[in-house]
Amino acid sequence: MSSVPVAVVTGSNKGIGLAIVRALCQQFPGDVYLTSRDPGRGQAAVAQLQQEGLRALFHQLDIDDLQSIRALRDFLKEKYGGLNVLVNNAGIAFKVNDTTPFAVQAEVTMKTNFFGTRNVCTELLPLMKPYGRVVNVSSMVSSRALGGCSQELQQKFRSDTITEEELVQLMTKFVEDTKKSIHQKEGWPNTAYGVSKIGVTVLSRIQARLLNEQRKGDHILLNACCPGWVRTDMAGPKATKSPEEGAETPVYLALLPSSADAPHGQFVSDKTVRPW
Ligand code: NAP
Repeated sequence: MSSVPVAVVTGSNKGIGLAIVRALCQQFPGDVYLTSRDPGRGQAAVAQLQQEGLRALFHQLDIDDLQSIRALRDFLKEKYGGLNVLVNNAGIAFKVNDTTPFAVQAEVTMKTNFFGTRNVCTELLPLMKPYGRVVNVSSMVSSRALGGCSQELQQKFRSDTITEEELVQLMTKFVEDTKKSIHQKEGWPNTAYGVSKIGVTVLSRIQARLLNEQRKGDHILLNACCPGWVRTDMAGPKATKSPEEGAETPVYLALLPSSADAPHGQFVSDKTVRPW
């Protein structure tokens, strides 16, 4: 078994994820895994980094596929005996002018952004080694969507005692409400991406609390973040930040020094803790 530290970035064949891998290859003292649901796209990205003189390793990972997540889990367990850095970056967003029915957009977006990210956490968080760092890439859109929720929902999403099961029920209810076209009447904002990212931010707050309760002595730090508005296939060419600039906050959180005990359980953008 290798004692080399190991970092994994989900959805890293392009965009912000690829920029995070690039920065980790330069700054993380260990093996860095570029993962992709499509091995061809993943290997091409690894080859691109190699041309830049950087050495990333590849492992397949489709966060929508539990078998794929478990294969990565078993590989990490066997080869490294755990994991030091996990960046949950993979995500999707429908374009604003997409004509797919809203209920379908809600189901598909929630499946990857919330449930896929949660499944990765369920399988990989138990592998985190002491002083491990976990970064869940959410979005400022989650804060805006929170503001668009009813007072009752806002209270639930800001609660310090909400459980993962309650959060799963709420995310499931949003999708069901969109199918009945009653989501706005039920207090939800009209954004599937925004609600899925509320799920990612609140999940991070819950997971950080659980780490405090169950693994306090292990000094693991887990945070949600927003990379900013970044020029990628998702956000388009008009966005203000380059992928490298978008990677800065996730990489800062992934490389918090072992002496740090904060931030933890926070929502961070531009390396600054934001109110939730
Ligand atoms: P992107 O260029 O579209 O890249 C998304 C990455 O996620 C791709 O590698 C994609 O793989 C991967 N992915 C999607 N579904 C996946 C799945 N089921 N399993 C594994 N990988 C999957 O988008 P981006 O802008 O870099 O976004 C990265 C993250 O930042 C996302 O979580 C996004 O919500 C968040 N974010 C972005 C912005 C922005 O302005 N760009 C702002 C706030 C937050 P394929 O190539 O196979 O599709």
